[in-house]
Amino acid sequence: MGEKIPEYKIFALRYATRNARRADHFIGGDPHDGPMPMDYFTWVIVGSDRCFLVDTGFTAETAARRKRTFLRCPIDSLRLLDIDPDAVTDVILTHLHYDHVGNFHKLPHARFHLQERELAFATGRQIRIPYFAHGFEEEDIVGMVRLNFKRRLELYDGDMELAPGLTLHFAPGHTAGLQVVRVHTQRGPVVLASDASHYYENIQTTRPFIAAVDLAAMMDSFRAIERLAASAHHIIPGHDPLVMQRYAAPSASLQDIVVRLDAQPAM
Ligand SMILES: [Zn+2]
Repeated sequence: MGEKIPEYKIFALRYATRNARRADHFIGGDPHDGPMPMDYFTWVIVGSDRCFLVDTGFTAETAARRKRTFLRCPIDSLRLLDIDPDAVTDVILTHLHYDHVGNFHKLPHARFHLQERELAFATGRQIRIPYFAHGFEEEDIVGMVRLNFKRRLELYDGDMELAPGLTLHFAPGHTAGLQVVRVHTQRGPVVLASDASHYYENIQTTRPFIAAVDLAAMMDSFRAIERLAASAHHIIPGHDPLVMQRYAAPSASLQDIVVRLDAQPAM
């Protein structure tokens, strides 16, 4: 006789892309090397009375410096979903890499939900090692420290229920404090895996992405995510262009920009 769990809508917004090859993405390379582009997304979770933004993408300036193809500002693009960026109150940060936390300054009234271990690593002793520092933008991390002083960071030590039917789960490996988001929807629980699995192939074939702080933890997180999701079709990778093919746009005007993840995918 439990209360009904609220169902959320989930939108994936594609804001950037880049060309790459298969061997760029997998530890050990790839025996069948070929093109494997990478898309960049933010996600929006819409409930009956609240919405949550998941990650904030990068800026046009960062895109130019890192040679990414910038398609649209992910924060300005919230208006395509009738969301005013000034009215966003809650942002879940899956981790602090540049493509997930840039633009935080464009959300003046938001608080940010993050794992404490992610901030600890990004301000810790290993950041002097270029391999670990590469994914972070110094100004983003300094900005997070400032937000903490302003009491706008909510730092967690492990799994957390943000709202009924909406939970955060510690899934480290790619970074030290990565978290994934489990969302109850009309088709059951969907897991926004973010960079716990960049591509479908990472989790489905247990092949680690090239950037990792802890390979064993990354493998454990693959299995943890599978336990959290209703099926393999309920796991949303962080950077896979197949997401735009498998899910439909919510309207004709949002074709190739937004897809709706709480609806059944075409397989
Ligand atoms: Zn990423």
